Amino acid sequence: MQSETDNEVQALRSALRMAESELQRFRDEEESRRQLVEVLNEVMGNLPTEEIFHLLVRRLARALNLSHASVILANPGDRTGIVATAFEQPHLHDLEIELDKYPEVVSALNGGIPVLIPDLEFCPLYIPLREKWARESTRVTIRSVMALPFPLDEGKMGVFLLRRTVEVPKFETADVQFAETVVKSGAPAIQRAYALETTRADNHRLEALAQTDPLTQLVNRRALTIRLVTEMERVRRYNAPLAMLLIDLDHFKLVNDTYGHLAGDDVLFAVASILQRAVRSVDLVARYGGEEFVIVLPETGKQGAVAFAERLRDRLASNRFTIAGRQDIRVTASIGVATYPSPGLDSVEDLFRAADSALYRAKGSGRNLVCG
Ligand code: GH3
Ligand code: MG
Ligand code: MG
Repeated sequence: MQSETDNEVQALRSALRMAESELQRFRDEEESRRQLVEVLNEVMGNLPTEEIFHLLVRRLARALNLSHASVILANPGDRTGIVATAFEQPHLHDLEIELDKYPEVVSALNGGIPVLIPDLEFCPLYIPLREKWARESTRVTIRSVMALPFPLDEGKMGVFLLRRTVEVPKFETADVQFAETVVKSGAPAIQRAYALETTRADNHRLEALAQTDPLTQLVNRRALTIRLVTEMERVRRYNAPLAMLLIDLDHFKLVNDTYGHLAGDDVLFAVASILQRAVRSVDLVARYGGEEFVIVLPETGKQGAVAFAERLRDRLASNRFTIAGRQDIRVTASIGVATYPSPGLDSVEDLFRAADSALYRAKGSGRNLVCG
């Protein structure tokens, strides 16, 4: 009786010891994973997404002896994806791929969990591709594949696609677990960087939008004024002159009245592209207001600016605008030219005022004229 109890106690003790050592092993594993996560996050702290992807595929490729490791950005249901990074091709950048050639990627995107294919040869997902390879006598050197999905932000996903060739042993469950730990630990840094980059890109777009005239896509008056302040500062510093053309279409009200406001809009758009094509890359073409445009010509004096304005006036006057099936719309412009430095001219407002008074003279002298 006594010895039976002893035996039971003994068994319980040994079970407890086993449980304790199991728990300790689990704790050690947890601890080492936690440390890995910490180290990765520290390293990736402020890196852009591209660098984080590079870092992770490099680490995975080395640790798991991979022949290929890439990050593919795509969402469930997409026909194509973008390869953001590929370990085996470090210079590759945002390559578009057809996802029907990557069934494991599609499966990982749809399921939202890692997909392991130890051997392509025996995987049902690969039947259509194997048949295709057989028909085309394609020799495939990849054997083992895994795809690990991760969230990029709400509704957007990516997949780490890791592959081994036939020369290397097949992937095992432990390999997937390791890769999953690495990917999971990288995910927060990826999401942070992605959110930051999207916000920056959005801000950049908004900024550009705020500086652009929606009808002509030219720089608007606000952005022009800001640019002029810098340009005049440059003139003062480098002592190179600057010219401004203020261009006002003649009797434009008549164009609207005759052909309609929409046709008028089309003419304004066409005029904008004529102006844009006429200038050098350093020049700035802006829509100043309704049917008024401004061209800023850096490093140009009075004589050069008047000659350029004259060519432009001629080009506009001889152009036949084909709008809404009509070939016969003709438009002329009056152009006022001002230059800096000029006596009594100190600010952006002064420059506008000088160009405006030259324009007023051109209008007063009969229109379709340049005055400086
Ligand atoms: P002037 O030779 O004296 O410059 O005559 P004008 O008719 O061009 O001048 P005015 O300033 O009297 O009229 C400008 C016209 O430009 C009137 C306005 O309807 C037209 N306009 C201004 N902005 C736009 C626009 O965005 N689209 C169209 N279609 N017309 C515009
Ligand atoms: Mg006007
Ligand atoms: Mg006008």
